[in-house]
Amino acid sequence: MSETMSPLDFRKNAAQAVRNKSLRNAMRTATDMFITKRGQGLADVPIETWRDQASAIRLDVLNHLPEYVDRFSRHATKAGAIVHHAHNAETAREVIFHILKDRGVKKIVKSKSMITEEIHLNEYLEDQDFKVVETDLGEYIVQIADEKPSHILAPAIHKTRSQVGELFSEKLNVPYSDDPAVLTKIARNVLRQEFLTADAGISGANFAVASSGSLAIFTNEGNGRMVTTLPPLHIAVLSIEKIIPTLKDLSLFTQLLPRSATGQILSSYLSVITGSRKPGESTGTKELHIVLLDNGRSEILKGEYREILKCIRCSACFNVCPVYRAIGGHAYGVTYPGPMGMVLTSLLEGIDKVYPLLDATTLCGACVEVCPVRVPLVKLLTMLREERVDKGMIPFTERAAMAMYGVATKRPSVFSLAQRTSRALWPVLIRIAGKGRLDRLPVPAPQRFNGRNL
Ligand code: SF4
Repeated sequence: MSETMSPLDFRKNAAQAVRNKSLRNAMRTATDMFITKRGQGLADVPIETWRDQASAIRLDVLNHLPEYVDRFSRHATKAGAIVHHAHNAETAREVIFHILKDRGVKKIVKSKSMITEEIHLNEYLEDQDFKVVETDLGEYIVQIADEKPSHILAPAIHKTRSQVGELFSEKLNVPYSDDPAVLTKIARNVLRQEFLTADAGISGANFAVASSGSLAIFTNEGNGRMVTTLPPLHIAVLSIEKIIPTLKDLSLFTQLLPRSATGQILSSYLSVITGSRKPGESTGTKELHIVLLDNGRSEILKGEYREILKCIRCSACFNVCPVYRAIGGHAYGVTYPGPMGMVLTSLLEGIDKVYPLLDATTLCGACVEVCPVRVPLVKLLTMLREERVDKGMIPFTERAAMAMYGVATKRPSVFSLAQRTSRALWPVLIRIAGKGRLDRLPVPAPQRFNGRNL
């Protein structure tokens, strides 16, 4: 969670974000592009069949998760990886720390991984005096800006290219440019040296294949390959629900994930890593550790919100969400923003810590329409909102207003009186509620609907 932005301040954060014109422009440009490309990428494929198949595969995994974790661990170990099981974030950080310390690691290169954001791995390792360098371009930008990712796929989506140019000029001491090709070249030159001198690479994984013990990593920049093959040590961190049964299932997700995420037919790079480098092989890391993290998943699995674990982190629901598109990811103040983030964060952190985030949805259902694995986000969000009300986590004014509305709707005479007086009382109500609340709503009509001569 961000130290400066708490999800409890969500309304304040969101109000600031919508007043930030450059943020809104950057968000609109990027999310519009993702939506358009997704539409093009899905135009000629049997997407509804794929979604059914993908949803069924993910449900099967959730229904038998302990068996799949066991099968994956056995096959990965047989292929030469060392598998660690971490119950929570603290254990995962300690496991990783000891692997690095025992091998005298000083510098680590990382590829983009939301699970390492979830366990705050960078901050932890930096506190232990390791140098950690993010190598995905977007991650690198937010790292040198001392910020957090604002999108699970495009971490620097909130920045315009001129802001990136200013950032590079200030932090890397290079001439200002807002040309993406120039900026990319600058980052590449810096990062190439980091790759060549790193002692270890840390990555996440998009999928873990139970039948072969393989990790599948999708990237568009090639940095994932450098992180996982150049340093002598590779540590992959992933949450247990990332497992899929077989390589055949991977072929479906290979088509579905990039199309849902960026509209690409395939990601530019797909690495399938099965164990460490074998004798006679010319590439691959010498030592591979896989940290399988639970961090609350087993508990979620037992409950009524378990379908959120079907998520494959494609981010399609972010790009179509009218709230996320307007405010970006930072306003949420949590690792996972957007529609899936609201659900997952409520379950991982506890609804009492993040309940204001449940206002960040219109329940329009756009997220459900695009989800490649049919996560029922609207249903889950509605259930969380009900839980929030049951636990009394709503402001007194809202509770009082809903109670009054309940009384009025049960008594037609009271309801009719409220309708008739609402127009006259509207200016008073606006003053009581405070500026920026009711005054954004349409003024009550001069004549009631059932009083009109139609
Ligand atoms: S909930 Fe669905 S649409 Fe959203 S990130 Fe997960 S898989 Fe993608």
